[in-house]
Amino acid sequence: MPDRHLKYVLIGGQTAGNCARWLRERGADGEILIVGREPDLPYYRPDCSKDYLRGEKSRQEALFRPPEWYEEQSVEVLRKVSAVSLDATARTLGLSNGQEVSFEKLLIATGANVRRMNVPGSELEGIFYLRTLANSDAIREAAAGKRVVLIGGSYIATEVAASLTELGSQCTLVMLEPVALSRTFGERAGRFFQDRLEEHGVTLHGEDALERFEGAGGRVTKVVTRNGLELEADAVVVGVGVVPDVSLAQKAGLQIGESGGVVCDASLQTPAPGIYAAGDIAEYDSVVHGRRLRVEHWDVSFNQGKAVALGMLGDDRPYDVVPYFFSDLSDWASLEYVGPAARWEREVVRGSIEDGRFSIFYLEGDRVLAALAVGRSEDIEHAVRWISSGARLGERTEELADLSTDLAEL
Ligand SMILES: Cc1cc2nc3c(=O)[nH]c(=O)nc-3n(C[C@H](O)[C@H](O)[C@H](O)COP(=O)(O)OP(=O)(O)OC[C@H]3O[C@@H](n4cnc5c(N)ncnc54)[C@H](O)[C@@H]3O)c2cc1C
Repeated sequence: MPDRHLKYVLIGGQTAGNCARWLRERGADGEILIVGREPDLPYYRPDCSKDYLRGEKSRQEALFRPPEWYEEQSVEVLRKVSAVSLDATARTLGLSNGQEVSFEKLLIATGANVRRMNVPGSELEGIFYLRTLANSDAIREAAAGKRVVLIGGSYIATEVAASLTELGSQCTLVMLEPVALSRTFGERAGRFFQDRLEEHGVTLHGEDALERFEGAGGRVTKVVTRNGLELEADAVVVGVGVVPDVSLAQKAGLQIGESGGVVCDASLQTPAPGIYAAGDIAEYDSVVHGRRLRVEHWDVSFNQGKAVALGMLGDDRPYDVVPYFFSDLSDWASLEYVGPAARWEREVVRGSIEDGRFSIFYLEGDRVLAALAVGRSEDIEHAVRWISSGARLGERTEELADLSTDLAEL
């Protein structure tokens, strides 16, 4: 027999928090329980590599909602508690505190775990991964003002390199790609961001890979690369991607899709009625893209938390928001991106890359698949419109580059 019966059980962090918020905003009654294994209340994870890492934002400020909000809204949060088993037919959840709860509706938003490097020396101290506020604290403490080697050329390594540089660290980055951030945004955009990093003193080594760590007294002292670089390091931060945490869903027999996420329909419901997936783990039927999609964007997780709340209340319209991503290299450069596009045929640049005010439209034929904006947020809404409608711009794609074109007319 379950110890308790609840109407809504939400597993995770901020996606769960936002789901609870929308359940209440839309008048849901009945008990809401959030189960999360971290010690903190749901918080804004992107801060971990940005303001929070730089010490410009407090832990309190990073919270999704202050502690009193949960009381006011009658939302119970179990912290440092994991959901360890799920019976999707009996609709029960086993918790690491020994309790078993039954539910009417369940959200699984278990996020992702960092991908770990397994090379000689991986066990040394001073090698960090970043996912949580606690990881961010540990990195600040060990790496501020020191020689830091970052592994990875995507947004985690570049954002951390920028933040630590602001804290007086000497940062060197090693990455597989020729230019930072080029995997997602292409080499042209990547070059712009890499230039900003280099201008501020970050050294970047592209087309190279981590070979091993060396250390003394159990602590890392050096990073050795495949190309033979030997980089002195007081600390190392590894940012080489994440793996969706589908362990609970998988054990419960829910289907895992090609991208490693939990398969769900266009309104984020899994084949088990009343059980939803959202955020980094959700591999959903995207009505915008006409295929299954899974993205690891904060905005998507957050919005999907809302969509699930509405779905739980009977409004199960398809989730049709075009995925939006943002990233900041301290205050040196910020980007916004909508899409996503894994491949594209050509890029059209609008504005001036040299002046740091530009957009890049990623095209296949005459269709815009994705867009990046730096200092030109106003272009993003048009890209969203074209992506969501699958618009064909015909001959007019060339006009995207012309600043005198009013994009609203395209
Ligand atoms: C350092 C950093 C910077 C980022 N910056 C950006 C950015 O600038 N822009 C952007 O768009 N995205 C960014 N992201 C990505 C973004 O934060 C994620 O896409 C988003 O947090 C995913 O939300 P989620 O709710 O799916 O998962 P998470 O935020 O990972 O939350 C999942 C929670 O569930 C908990 N959990 C897992 N399993 C269980 C279980 N069995 N029982 C109980 N609890 C469990 C986890 O501990 C975690 O607290 C960043 C991520 C990181 C780590």
